[in-house]
Amino acid sequence: MAQAMGGALLICLAALCGCGRGESARPEHPVVLIGFDGLEWSVAGPLIRAGRMPNLKALIERGVAGSLDPHRESLSPVIWTTIATGKTKQDHGIVDFLTPGAKKIPFTSEARRGKALWNIAGDYGLMSLVVGWWITWPAEEINGWMVAPYSSLGQNDFNWKGNMRPDIEGQTWPPELFQEVWPIAEQVSAPDNLARLGGELFGALEVSSLSDTEQMPVNQTLWSVAADETYLRAVLHLLGKEEKQPDLTLFYGGGTDVSGHRFWRYYEPERFSYEVTAAEVLRFGDVINRFYEQADQYLGQALAAAPADANVIVCSDHGFHADFTDRLPPGGFSGHHLDGPPGMIVLAGPSFRQGVGGSAVLSGKGTPARIGYVYDVAPLVLYLLDIPAGRDMQSPEGGNLLKNAVRPEQLEARPLEVIRSHDVGFRPAKVPTELSGEATQEFMDVLNRLGYLGGKGE
Ligand SMILES: [Zn+2]
Repeated sequence: MAQAMGGALLICLAALCGCGRGESARPEHPVVLIGFDGLEWSVAGPLIRAGRMPNLKALIERGVAGSLDPHRESLSPVIWTTIATGKTKQDHGIVDFLTPGAKKIPFTSEARRGKALWNIAGDYGLMSLVVGWWITWPAEEINGWMVAPYSSLGQNDFNWKGNMRPDIEGQTWPPELFQEVWPIAEQVSAPDNLARLGGELFGALEVSSLSDTEQMPVNQTLWSVAADETYLRAVLHLLGKEEKQPDLTLFYGGGTDVSGHRFWRYYEPERFSYEVTAAEVLRFGDVINRFYEQADQYLGQALAAAPADANVIVCSDHGFHADFTDRLPPGGFSGHHLDGPPGMIVLAGPSFRQGVGGSAVLSGKGTPARIGYVYDVAPLVLYLLDIPAGRDMQSPEGGNLLKNAVRPEQLEARPLEVIRSHDVGFRPAKVPTELSGEATQEFMDVLNRLGYLGGKGE
């Protein structure tokens, strides 16, 4: 009798939350999705072999490695939203950095059409931790914690307290979480800590003694160091809370992209027809590598704080390469990804196959083969959380990524389910919230200075 009543209760709960199971049904293993912007196999490969990215190497050895295709897209806000929704830009609505039309304003979370992974997980009673992800400001009301960058991370060329500001609403969910996270941003941005971070990435460098051309990339990169460190520490802080453990964790770091844009001419000077001096190469030739090393350390720290049985996915939105090789453009970029080169994906954990796809990179014989597209990630994450995919996603069956990554026995025992849509009843998309006053002006000034407002984005 007690059993029958329990069954009836579960059905009631399932009806209440509009999904196929009761609120107490947690996935067998939590999911940790870590995004590093612009991570590129041709850079990571030699570092992995040299022992400079031990945490990623360990994941490759016990999991699946491959290239992740952005399907011709090249802009971070577009692709990270695709990764979080399983939809192309036409369907999710975040089509660029700025809205089209006469009045261009930065896209924000309210402009997204349809639910992201954190919304869907909440519908199924699961808890999410989302930190630093693109186009999440203003932070949505979710079941869990969110720390949302007030603007698109990729355009802030100065250090703004780890890219958090004291004067804007909506940077965290729940709102009172801001009181816990702001001190982290202040600690990271303290002069001695910034000096330590700068020292790790740029060596013993007297910035004021550099030429203007050399100072620019250093100053324009320091903010991203502080932002990544702030968000990483926020993840560690929240994963350290005993009372609640997230079923889904998403963390984004951008330093690998920013350093790629600013320092590629020193990394591969032979590709550039203008002069890059030997002294410059000596000073800056290893900077991109050090950002990758730092990303690997962040990965190690995040995984040490996460449950040991988590299914872990590390990916980038696109790859990277030398660009503007015949002239240094005013913004100072010498690496880019405007053609949407393939990014990286590594998956490891109890649900994934083992030792697949990594031999080329571990042996130095090449880069891993393409195993999926960026819009395949969301259906895979939902599968791992035991949630159906939506028929309105770009690849509701999870594409080749699901088949290439998940253990065949598990897929056979529990195939991916698909429902019509997760978006029924979701709030309509709105015109982005425009920041007022000083914050908007600073943001637009930076965009303008870097040449974004007239043409090609990031
Ligand atoms: Zn970029």
